[in-house]
Amino acid sequence: MKVLITGGAGFIGSHLAEKYLERGDDVYIIDDLSTGSLENIKHLQEDENHRNKLFVTIDSILNHDIMLELVGTCDVVLHMAAAVGVQYILDNPLLSIVTNIKGTEEVLELCNKFRKKVLIASTSEVYGKHTHAPLVETDNIIYGPSTKFRWSYAAAKLMDEFTALAYHRTKKLQVIIIRLFNTVGPRQTGRYGMVMPRFVQQALSNETITVYGDGTQTRVFTYVEDVVDAIAKLGKCSDAIGDITNIGGAEEIAIGNLAERVKKLTSSTSQIKFIPYDEAYTKDFEDMQRRVPSIEKVEKLINWKPTTSLDNIIESVIEFYRASE
Ligand code: UDP
Repeated sequence: MKVLITGGAGFIGSHLAEKYLERGDDVYIIDDLSTGSLENIKHLQEDENHRNKLFVTIDSILNHDIMLELVGTCDVVLHMAAAVGVQYILDNPLLSIVTNIKGTEEVLELCNKFRKKVLIASTSEVYGKHTHAPLVETDNIIYGPSTKFRWSYAAAKLMDEFTALAYHRTKKLQVIIIRLFNTVGPRQTGRYGMVMPRFVQQALSNETITVYGDGTQTRVFTYVEDVVDAIAKLGKCSDAIGDITNIGGAEEIAIGNLAERVKKLTSSTSQIKFIPYDEAYTKDFEDMQRRVPSIEKVEKLINWKPTTSLDNIIESVIEFYRASE
């Protein structure tokens, strides 16, 4: 099978590329390296078993002619390319909306033209600022005002979901939508805001660990290998077509406790400092207090459960950053 992975040089995309290459598929990647990096796929390009089956295009998904060729060539499209990371979204308000809305429209239009199955990566951010748990795919959503730019990411991804569902309803296009909950693991960078690589890097260099707010906000982290396993299985699940499915981990943790846990596992001498949100981000930033996935649906669909404990997840990130020191 020929698989096109948009954003294939990104954190999750590169792990997906590896998974599909290991399955014996041909993998086509398109990535503009905005937040991805060739470093993420270098080991695949250098691997004798993989390099003849890996085709990398450095370009934007908004380049119509190139996407026409790639979607036309491949059997299935995994659309992972997106502007991501709270810091990146706040720093690039316009560019991130264009990438996330126009980019997905382009992918869906071409998948429809060539009648190719497509998986759209959405996000748990779509749920907005609920505090109840767990979040179920059919839950209502609550956002802050449009002056608070954090919500532009959620709104853009929500629009992507609507567009994909509309293609399914009106054109019978085979679309699968996934909502990812704080995917973490090796190769994720802290440059765009993500907390796990930031805490691990801060702890390893014995710098101050920066907890934003009072640290009581919680998240459930999902290991990237568990995520790519779920994606590969959902890609073959006919009941997932035309629908939205959460993919998330199992252990809820407060961010302040995560800082403690990372500090302990790295035997770091770092101080843990609480930083008010308006110092960490811009004044109009709003955090989500709690985000816990319901994974009942994905369990039923593909008999999948997250298998990596939070300590093992943190250890894998520590190992990655120690090796790259
Ligand atoms: N966070 C933090 N310190 C950092 C970066 C993030 O305390 O250096 C917090 C952030 O405010 C949020 C949580 O960690 O409450 C998760 O942030 P991330 O940006 O990784 O993901 P998201 O907010 O999208 O869940």
